[in-house]
Amino acid sequence: MTIFTFLSRSLLLAVFPLLIIASGCRSPRSGQELKSFRFVDLHMGSLFRIVLYAPNEATANRAAEAAFQRVKELDDRLTDYDPRSELRQLSQQPAGQPVKISRDLFEVLEHSQRLARQTDGAFDVTLGPLIQLWRQSRKSGKLPTTADIQKARQSTGFAKLQLNASRQTATLAVPNMQLDVGGIAKGYAADQALLVLRRLGIRQAMVAASGDIALGDPPPGKKGWTIAIESLDTEAAGATETVSLHNAGISTSGDTEQYVEIDGRRYSHIVDPATGLGLTDRIGVTVIAPTATGSDSLATAVSVLGSRRGPAYVASQPHVASRIVYLTPTGPQRILSPRSPHPVQAGQQH
Ligand code: ADP
Ligand code: MG
Repeated sequence: MTIFTFLSRSLLLAVFPLLIIASGCRSPRSGQELKSFRFVDLHMGSLFRIVLYAPNEATANRAAEAAFQRVKELDDRLTDYDPRSELRQLSQQPAGQPVKISRDLFEVLEHSQRLARQTDGAFDVTLGPLIQLWRQSRKSGKLPTTADIQKARQSTGFAKLQLNASRQTATLAVPNMQLDVGGIAKGYAADQALLVLRRLGIRQAMVAASGDIALGDPPPGKKGWTIAIESLDTEAAGATETVSLHNAGISTSGDTEQYVEIDGRRYSHIVDPATGLGLTDRIGVTVIAPTATGSDSLATAVSVLGSRRGPAYVASQPHVASRIVYLTPTGPQRILSPRSPHPVQAGQQH
């Protein structure tokens, strides 16, 4: 059984060797003996893990290398940490000027803008200036001033980013805008890595970009990939809940890892456009969607929408399921969406 745990990134780094060869299975289609192979690599500041089934080690190595290469290419394009990245270069262009961008960046921005419109800006890739303020707070231990937030706000808002699909251009309407695709890039990279594997004939595979996972066909002889969900409630109870899935994306966003504590309040790295600050609600969101691009961005969006508006939004989406956990003074409360990710089993990990 293959079980992957979200959020325990640093631990996993220590325990996962680069390549593990597991037991063999016969492919139902070709009758060929397939073995499972696992690979780990660091990209986008996160641990990327690939599990795939292939007839031999050489095929598996080649495929994983190509998939990681694709992730690296996307990292180089989409990172906001490197001034040479395509994303940063775009932010440096003069306001009001259409800029031709790559297909990857266009797809990521197009998906983001659709979600921004649907969620009234809860998900918003133009929040860069406010995200920068959050990063400064993490270093200084101080909240930004109201004036800082007001100034940053003048260069944020998804309506200030305009896309033209036929020309494949992006236009930033006002000066000092900064795009940040940290809430969607890992999911997109996981999807793209899975696509590379599929093009190389490997369909029984999964790519996990820490908490953002893209799943292909199920492992041989299995109905799905067994994915462990770790969130605020399971952590408190010391239990693990799992779901079985294939050909889908699943993501968990939460406040358990990245936050800054100031004057006894926790501000998560997910920025609430309403306040301009990190979210202070203690909320953990797991989303299942047709792709990891979808699940990654939705998990961030639903975290911002919160325990009241989040479930209503998910219910309006035909192919999305969510599991939302929020902390109340009396303990964790859980809200499962109508198409809830049904737990297949609870208990020990294997
Ligand atoms: P993780 O999976 O690492 O917990 P998320 O997918 O939740 O991360 O995305 C968090 C990142 O998204 C932040 O570090 C920031 O780059 C970006 N971000 C923060 N707030 C928002 C928001 N409201 N909309 C879109 N992106 C955001
Ligand atoms: Mg996300």
